[in-house]
Amino acid sequence: MTITHNLGFPRIGARRELKFALERHWQGAATAAELETQAAELRARHWARQSALDLVPVGDFSFYDQVLDTSFLLGNVPARARSHGGTPLDQYFRVARGRAASDSACGCVHAGEMTKWFDTNYHYIVPEFDASTTFALDTTRLQQQLREALDLGVRAKPVIIGPLTYLWLGKSKDASERLALLPALLPVYAQLLDWLKAEGVDWVQVDEPALVTDLDPAWRQACQDAYAALQGHGPKLLLATYFGPLADNLALACALPVAGLHLDAINAQDEVAAAIALLDESKVLSLGVVDGRNIWKTDLHATLAWLEPVARQLGERLWIAPSCSLLHVPVDLESETHLDPEIRSWLAFAVQKLEELRLLACALDHGRVKVQEALLANAAAVDRRRASRRVHSPEVAQAVAAITPDLGRRASPHAQRLTEQAALLNLPSYPTTTIGSFPQTLDIRQARQQFKRGELDAQGYRAAMQAEIARCIKAQEDLGLDVFVHGEAERNDMVEYFGEQLEGYAFSANGWVQSYGSRCVKPPILYGDVRRPRPMTVEWTAYAQSLTEKPMKGMLTGPVTMLNWSFVRDDQPRAATCRQLALAIRAEVQDLERAGVRIIQIDEAALREGLPLRRAHWDTYLDWAVESFRIAANGVRDATQIHTHMCYSEFNDIIAAIAAMDADVITIETSRSDMELLGAFDDFRYPNGIGPGVYDIHSPNVPSRAQIVGLMRKAAARIPPAQLWVNPDCGLKTRRWEEVLPALENMVAAARTLREAA
Ligand code: GLN
Ligand code: ZN
Repeated sequence: MTITHNLGFPRIGARRELKFALERHWQGAATAAELETQAAELRARHWARQSALDLVPVGDFSFYDQVLDTSFLLGNVPARARSHGGTPLDQYFRVARGRAASDSACGCVHAGEMTKWFDTNYHYIVPEFDASTTFALDTTRLQQQLREALDLGVRAKPVIIGPLTYLWLGKSKDASERLALLPALLPVYAQLLDWLKAEGVDWVQVDEPALVTDLDPAWRQACQDAYAALQGHGPKLLLATYFGPLADNLALACALPVAGLHLDAINAQDEVAAAIALLDESKVLSLGVVDGRNIWKTDLHATLAWLEPVARQLGERLWIAPSCSLLHVPVDLESETHLDPEIRSWLAFAVQKLEELRLLACALDHGRVKVQEALLANAAAVDRRRASRRVHSPEVAQAVAAITPDLGRRASPHAQRLTEQAALLNLPSYPTTTIGSFPQTLDIRQARQQFKRGELDAQGYRAAMQAEIARCIKAQEDLGLDVFVHGEAERNDMVEYFGEQLEGYAFSANGWVQSYGSRCVKPPILYGDVRRPRPMTVEWTAYAQSLTEKPMKGMLTGPVTMLNWSFVRDDQPRAATCRQLALAIRAEVQDLERAGVRIIQIDEAALREGLPLRRAHWDTYLDWAVESFRIAANGVRDATQIHTHMCYSEFNDIIAAIAAMDADVITIETSRSDMELLGAFDDFRYPNGIGPGVYDIHSPNVPSRAQIVGLMRKAAARIPPAQLWVNPDCGLKTRRWEEVLPALENMVAAARTLREAA
């Protein structure tokens, strides 16, 4: 019998129940006990939905992030979180977001750094290490979840992050070697495993996705040492790898003294045979045969065609699962009642993916006939998608074929463009601006909902949004900012807004995926060739510009980000889809310029996260990504200033590509890293404008003028002041006006201080 299991289930809830529960708690409207109750209900519901599986993940739930949970599990809690007392949950939220529900608004603690989880759009809180870091097991949270699961009769398989990956994900705060902590860490893991065994657990899933990345010899050695040291402790270990092939780490992974290995057979199908050859016959091989990162139906016939011989070969040793945790897909397609039925028939969300898994196991164990009807329905859907006319547009194919290198080039180099732009814009030194969005208030969201439900007509909606834009511009006038934005009131989301207006995109109503903490995104579904039937932003931007003399930035999302934050086609290369997007954005840029907009910002927040996990594939990706940006951005006159924005980016290793994008100004996230990120620009002698973010918009804390001046002085020590802009880390949509106004007031005052001192 083929064992079926799951690596993780989306924790946020089909209706984002966890998000709303968390936010109520943070706002003081729900006690910690109420939050705990809701969380337990969600977990029970999610386990019930996985009840057909042989093994169900436990411990994949989190109030914010599973890596932060691991830090607490291992007793690696930054001292600053403890200094204000409170419960462990308070301390947890302090690290997560800078403030516990019980803390006053003073904001005394800085939140932990957040960064992308491998090549996904999920963010984790970076573990903090230094030479004196110690570990101490605290199983409170995991124990609670495990007890709940066992009480409910769940066939529980606890999920933990393995020691190698935990260290690999973290950052040393004092330049000490993280690996030096391994000897202190391993006894705590041993204790954890022993405790799990004592709880009656049979199998533990130990996630080691670091194994799909380039590891240098010291890390590979550490991996061997770690699992050698853990041998004999605890239940049977299933070492889980995902997001890519193991490549040069395959032999290492197969030889580790564990009871089983999980391989991502979506991304590493061609390693299956080698893994079988390398694995000892006592070990289980778990294959991730259903894509945990995308929403397309699995082609069950194609999967069975290669899986059946594997099953015959492995017998009882074969397990099957999704390729990775289902954290990265929405919960249930059943809730999509409004989706175009044809497109809907091509899709599978988490619940449907688990059903696919059940069908596969059934076909393997009892023959395809046993599930013939379901297999036929699956084949029909897969075939219809492949042949659909809605997927292929000859017009788009033609436009892409006509792309020449000229399309990506501006007339003059940056220095020359800058002269023209400066004359036109007439900005002070240290110009101040924001990243685009202003608070998405309840009013805005309600107006949009009413509009979508048909309770507000197009004219009424436009009037409501224009009023918001006017309010936003008045606020910027009062604050004295230099370059304005219209505030993005009309945008639900920076990708969805554009996707909704482009052909080739479909939208779910409830397809939420956790991005970080309580933040969710609803990635659009890029199913077909992309075409822009009409301008998407010109009217709003022109309206905004009509209200002020100050330059208004036109605000667009770039092609690479549109791609990386969508569920993408699996029937053509990403590069091909990206070029289609680039042409659509380019047309919009040119329309904005024609409408008199002098500055256009093209956000590429997700450029870095699209980097392949293996270095060997970076150049190819960067080539087409930068080319796509340039096609989108560079169809303008010299006098038009192009900005781009990136968040959470580390630039050291991609600075040449960033420079090749040749945006006139780049704004970046830097404040949480204390301007460390600027080193890359400094070393590279990056020639264009840079706005290093001066405050963390993910935290409700208001930065003081002195803090901002301090950060900008650090920036000015690295970058010639003439190149510097002053701006927050990112958009302000998740903040409240009460937080935004004082913060920006301090930011503008700081810029004034800097100018006076210059
Ligand atoms: N312009 C967008 C905003 O301000 C950028 C968001 C982002 O970079 N994530 O919301
Ligand atoms: Zn950003």
